[in-house]
Amino acid sequence: MEIIVLYGGKSAEHDISVLTAASIIQHIQYGTHNVTPVYIDINGHWFAGPNMSEKPAADINLRFNQAENGQAVVPTDILSEDKDQVVFPALHGPNGEDGTIQGLFESLNVAYVGAGVLASAAGMDKIVSKHLFNQVGLPQVPFATLNAYEWEKDADAAVAKVTESLSYPVFVKPANMGSSVGISQATDDAELKAALALAFRFDRRVLVEASVENPREVELAVLGNEEVFVSVPGELGKGQGFYDYDEKYINNSTEMIIPAKIDDETVAKLQAYAKEAYLVLDGSGLSRADFFLTQEGDIYINEVNTLPGFTQFSMYPSLWEASGKGFDDLIEELIQLALNRYNKKQ
Ligand code: ATP
Ligand code: MG
Ligand code: MG
Ligand code: MG
Repeated sequence: MEIIVLYGGKSAEHDISVLTAASIIQHIQYGTHNVTPVYIDINGHWFAGPNMSEKPAADINLRFNQAENGQAVVPTDILSEDKDQVVFPALHGPNGEDGTIQGLFESLNVAYVGAGVLASAAGMDKIVSKHLFNQVGLPQVPFATLNAYEWEKDADAAVAKVTESLSYPVFVKPANMGSSVGISQATDDAELKAALALAFRFDRRVLVEASVENPREVELAVLGNEEVFVSVPGELGKGQGFYDYDEKYINNSTEMIIPAKIDDETVAKLQAYAKEAYLVLDGSGLSRADFFLTQEGDIYINEVNTLPGFTQFSMYPSLWEASGKGFDDLIEELIQLALNRYNKKQ
């Protein structure tokens, strides 16, 4: 089977995606599979690397380009329903995790790893997710929404709309983004305005939500298609404060506590909520469900990531590792889940 690993992308999470792809490429079962890496540069152009039937060196430069070892391609040069192939999209954020590229795979009728169009789009969109989670009674913090029209027409009225239902501090987030890009906290009207201005640089729709004070952040891995498995919870052993972009990728100071030290009853609730969130979004393949735990023991779902960070150091594979499923086995299982879903559709 040819595994096409697709990564990079026109996204604020481009660099993380390259790291995710590098890990995946190291852990595919060569012999059973061969791998074609396809790099999407920051402008959205596709470059195929050489097909590999053996594991490449760990430090292989995956940023292919025409001048060196890459070949400029368009999707239909690479993807074909007549080939024995599975696409492994290792893309994070808009244009990769949001259903757009999944729509391309569906249109070309090729098998691909992970969530389908609906789950990808709904999972990436924090506003749509919130509405769906409310519908099935998942606990979450109160929120308000704004669109660019409201914001551009009258910034003061937009602020008033938020403060009518929420009190400070609040978190302000672009509806569609990841890696904490465009997210900030606001403690008064002036900060809220600045936070909204930032968030609207990334999206036409913005979510504002009540802050949980100094929350524990707990994440669970979900795996499966119709039959769904949920891992033990892991906790981000961060200091006080917000898990921002630098904390995630630059400082590297956040340790993962696996399993999180949480009582059995709360673990069971978290697992049930993670599964519920997966089902309401119509998840398949994988996702990571992220929660806040308050000092009082309340649980709030924060979000679901349908293509969570996937390096050896990331939470998602580490959670399965803790349950006895190593990185190689996990990759193979995701490939098999992709094929199962594809074959059922034919
Ligand atoms: P990811 O990289 O996991 O996709 P993201 O960009 O989608 O993240 P969020 O998870 O929504 O963004 O928020 C980023 C971080 O901001 C959280 O991990 C948490 O540290 C902080 N945060 C977000 N919302 C809240 C809240 N309501 N209360 C307290 N902290 C919050
Ligand atoms: Mg996210
Ligand atoms: Mg994300
Ligand atoms: Mg998050």
